[in-house]
Amino acid sequence: MITARPHVAAMAAYPLPAPADDPLCVGLAQNESAFPPSPLAIAAAERAARNAALYPDAGWVDLRAALAEVHGIDANGIVCGVGSMDLISGLFQTFVGPGDTVVGSQYGYLFPATAAQQVGAQLLHADERNFTVDVDALAARAGGDAGVAATEKNPARMVFVCNPGNPTGTRIPNAEIVRLRSQLDDRTLLVVDQAYGEFDDQDQQSAFDLVARGDTVVLRTLSKAYGLAGLRVGWGYFPLRVADELRKVMNPNNLSCIAQAMAEVAVRDQSYMRHVVAQTAAVRDEFAKRLRAMGYPIPESHTNFVLIPFEDASLCQRVDRALQDAGFMLRGMSGYGLPHCLRATVGTAEQMSDVADLLETFRADQQTELTA
Ligand SMILES: *Cc1c(COP(=O)(O)O)cnc(C)c1O
Repeated sequence: MITARPHVAAMAAYPLPAPADDPLCVGLAQNESAFPPSPLAIAAAERAARNAALYPDAGWVDLRAALAEVHGIDANGIVCGVGSMDLISGLFQTFVGPGDTVVGSQYGYLFPATAAQQVGAQLLHADERNFTVDVDALAARAGGDAGVAATEKNPARMVFVCNPGNPTGTRIPNAEIVRLRSQLDDRTLLVVDQAYGEFDDQDQQSAFDLVARGDTVVLRTLSKAYGLAGLRVGWGYFPLRVADELRKVMNPNNLSCIAQAMAEVAVRDQSYMRHVVAQTAAVRDEFAKRLRAMGYPIPESHTNFVLIPFEDASLCQRVDRALQDAGFMLRGMSGYGLPHCLRATVGTAEQMSDVADLLETFRADQQTELTA
């Protein structure tokens, strides 16, 4: 029987959350939007479906024009993927090989580690401070100009920074991203993953300015703020030479005609997206405020989710199970090295109020147990 290549046989599949036993369970595990997509995008899907006999536009011309206009960037530098995960895989296939190192942040997004394994490479972690990315630790780990240590002669092929971060929800100022870039070797590609960029009220645009240097890319997705996780559309802004190389490894007809049509219209409907983001942020801040009042040390979130640290892993697991029994599926964070934390995607105001009520009850029960 055929066997997989050794580096594939040795790796585990990407850890998506297990589906809830109860199909009526409210899913707050994957940072999906609590809001439907723009009604204009839904209407565009029906129009596009009539052309589904034809292959889609392999160059995403209309979608790229919309993105370029809205963000004030060059359409030629935009590459679209089947979610930004597709672009992350593509970057690894293009630039990373067996034995290479790539650096990410301690509690950074998990997918780059899987993408590294897919090409026989390894992802090293740089420590965070207070659930926040530490630029100097990243630079040191990557063995750049200011870096010490192991990889100095052979700097990391890529450095991954998710800003704002998943699963922490925290962010660093763009000036820190610029400072990180200046500390990295020119041969290291800096990948700034802004999957939650639309939720961040600082000027996210300045990360796009770094792309002109030729050694930095910015990734975005329509899965979060635009409420299109099921459509699978991500995009990135790349230096032209990086974009040209990347496109060679990608499926040349990757986005369906329906995906392109919905995404273009959703991107042009900025007022709807802004409305969704504002509503989500309001529910998030109310939820975080209630949890802080109960004594949970909630990091400040600039995303559509909240990280909830518990005293220890076993309490965390018990609460997770109790929430599931009550119909709410949060995401355990063991895979991220945070077994004492749960991540709660921001759902509707009513759902979050119910989750906060449940946490309040568990907290009270726990106090009674402790004093009993
Ligand atoms: C959700 C997410 C993505 C990608 O999602 P796609 O649905 O593949 O576009 C990428 N990075 C981070 C940090 C995310 O949280």
